[in-house]
Amino acid sequence: MDHFSLRDGVMHAEDVPLTRIAEEVGTPVYVYSRATLERHARVFRDALSALPRVHIAFAIKANPNLAVLRVLSREGFGADIVSVGEMKRALASGMAPADIVFSGVGKTRDELREALDAGIGQFNIELEEEGVAIAEFARAMGKTATAVLRINPDVDAGTHAKISTGLKENKFGVPIDEAPEIYTRLAALDGLAMRGLALHIGSQIFDLEPIEQAFAKVGGLVMQLRAAGHQIERVDLGGGLGVPYERDKVPPSPAIYGEMVARVTKDWDVTLMFEPGRVIVGNAGVLLTRVIWVKPGVVRPYVIVDAAMNDLARPAMYDAWHDFEAVEPIGERMLANIAGPVCESGDTFAMGRDIDAVKADDLAIFRTAGAYGATMASTYNSRALVPEVMVDGDQYAIVAERVLPDALIAAEHVPNFLND
Ligand SMILES: *Cc1c(COP(=O)(O)O)cnc(C)c1O
Repeated sequence: MDHFSLRDGVMHAEDVPLTRIAEEVGTPVYVYSRATLERHARVFRDALSALPRVHIAFAIKANPNLAVLRVLSREGFGADIVSVGEMKRALASGMAPADIVFSGVGKTRDELREALDAGIGQFNIELEEEGVAIAEFARAMGKTATAVLRINPDVDAGTHAKISTGLKENKFGVPIDEAPEIYTRLAALDGLAMRGLALHIGSQIFDLEPIEQAFAKVGGLVMQLRAAGHQIERVDLGGGLGVPYERDKVPPSPAIYGEMVARVTKDWDVTLMFEPGRVIVGNAGVLLTRVIWVKPGVVRPYVIVDAAMNDLARPAMYDAWHDFEAVEPIGERMLANIAGPVCESGDTFAMGRDIDAVKADDLAIFRTAGAYGATMASTYNSRALVPEVMVDGDQYAIVAERVLPDALIAAEHVPNFLND
């Protein structure tokens, strides 16, 4: 459920008509609903309420906007980060260092030192050498780093190849067969407190079967390591739950996911950690855009909108679907392609789609754009960096400004040797 709906024929975000935001802020612009964010955070938390000990770390990469993080921090969420930049955002939003988990296969040595210095709560180690480096840096600082070992369980999450992470040929985690030996060596290092395991097998997952299989494999490893005398007190189950990009394709609910987790983990006796991203923010945001032209096409018309692949990369990157709806629908439909202004054929949001009839200057939204949307935006074609707005009841605020080409040009320099 979300808070984007038609009222008196006009699409609203909560109580704010999107026509007002388009007029006052311009388009394209991302619009987030605070009430939707809070609702998703609570639904996710409630789904896990039967579990004894839980820590939820929002995967910041899905939406790193400070205001979004602030909402989630107020809901008691910590953060799953994959860079020091994301760590700075988590801290700036009010999250405690202890509630931050550092994931990622390419944490640099500088990043590891900075994160240790900041006192973050957990390192998810992706390879043995990384663990050795963390231990060494921690000793040099007189600290002990709490860490878990990320396992690659070798299961197919059944999702898009670019967002699958749990197959043995993927770059993430250590192979599950080698995990006991690596774990034992890391656990012996001073400066490192090995406390458990982590996994994350992919994103936009619709089928719980492979996740359950992966969790079961990790459960076996928990028992094996414990039997070998290791202190296994936490398991980080990652994120990955899908969201409905198309109205009629509905993923498993957080509640069903929670029941599965409770069943698989009932004998583990650990703190369970979760790293949801998309499922929290996906439906809490839309990309508001204006139709520039409706260009007659040989096969079908092209609706050319002022949002492009640089603002919302998912269709170009993952062939992703985003529902397209008119802000003031007239009750008629049209069959059209939808594309942006960028000079690439890949800058196409939909082909041959049955959509609300629109004409030049009409406003429209791409739904479910709150996750992996603004955060992947670029300035390709020297377009402005897309702004973000958050709505709260009948008010809204700009939570990320539009960065204009002038500002980008001002950050570039023509060297003296080109001036003679
Ligand atoms: C991307 C990622 C997540 C979040 O994935 P979602 O599909 O957005 O829930 C969680 N953990 C790790 C390690 C990730 O890389």
